[in-house]
Amino acid sequence: MHKTVLAAVIAVVGFSSAALANGKVIGVSWSNFQEERWKTDEAAMKAAIEAAGDTYISADAQLSAEKQLSDVESLITQGANALIILSVDKDAIGPAVDKAAGEGIPVVGYDRLIEDSRAFYLTFDNKKVGSIIAEKVSAVKPEGNYAIIKGDKGDPNVGFLLEGMMEVLKPSIDAGKIKIVGEAFTDGWKPDNAQKNMEQILTANNNAVDAVLAENDGMAGGAIAALSAQGMNVPIGGQDGDLAALNRVARGTQTVSVWKDSRALGKKAAEIAAALAEGTAMDKIDGAVKWKGGAKGVEMNAVFLDPTPITKDNLEVVIDAGHITKAQACEGAMADVAACK
Ligand code: BGC
Repeated sequence: MHKTVLAAVIAVVGFSSAALANGKVIGVSWSNFQEERWKTDEAAMKAAIEAAGDTYISADAQLSAEKQLSDVESLITQGANALIILSVDKDAIGPAVDKAAGEGIPVVGYDRLIEDSRAFYLTFDNKKVGSIIAEKVSAVKPEGNYAIIKGDKGDPNVGFLLEGMMEVLKPSIDAGKIKIVGEAFTDGWKPDNAQKNMEQILTANNNAVDAVLAENDGMAGGAIAALSAQGMNVPIGGQDGDLAALNRVARGTQTVSVWKDSRALGKKAAEIAAALAEGTAMDKIDGAVKWKGGAKGVEMNAVFLDPTPITKDNLEVVIDAGHITKAQACEGAMADVAACK
């Protein structure tokens, strides 16, 4: 077909002109933009993709595993040369990988495991995130009744986080010092569902809960709402470095937020997707390791980044990194938070 005719056809059917750019088109399928952290990931990813002369296109599944499958199809139709997928549901994402593989389009499973050897796995060490949450909370509450607020069932990270937590708590549980008095999945990782979970656990235990391990900051916020409605303030941990959570750390209403610098993860994903689109083999990606810690034991090519615990003793780390301003972090801070002096 003549070039101008092709351009006209593309214009008429509404394909993105991105597909005509010189560089590669990187298609990103997000799970849920309502949550704070993914906007940071997106900004970093987009900046890195554009700096490399490639084009960023995206879709947001809004927590629907079904919509995600049609999103991926549409990214492919729009000319994606590589896909970065933050999957909504581990069991429902399979057809998206089949489709991409059928068209020879590489896939990066972003943050959440897509347990299929045709996908690359890029994430933070989630088990370590869970261990850190348990370590920091149990350091201030070595004995007592613990509640665990888990994330969405469809997310493999939920299991990795729990594994890390239980590894740390096991000796204390075996010694009878710590007792898990409630543990619940939270649909869509939503803070209001976490609040309901926490309310139920409090009711079931006549409020005898001494510490809470939440699998992210949004849910920690929900759990804290349930606790403070009962006049309670107990040690609680989460992850993501959400701005409100970091401020709670300064105020003394949250013990730890494990910060995963999404800017680093987003940038890395852009680099890996571009390399794969250029034909680099998955095991030749910079820093790639072989890993098979998933539920099905599939051997994956993976890159893991390291998470950073943030407590009142090192709050300056996120301020110095430019993740949060001192004013935001320190509003209403306790007197002994050095970073806020
Ligand atoms: C991510 C967390 C995030 C959660 C909810 C998990 O897979 O690792 O950082 O808070 O999803 O979106």
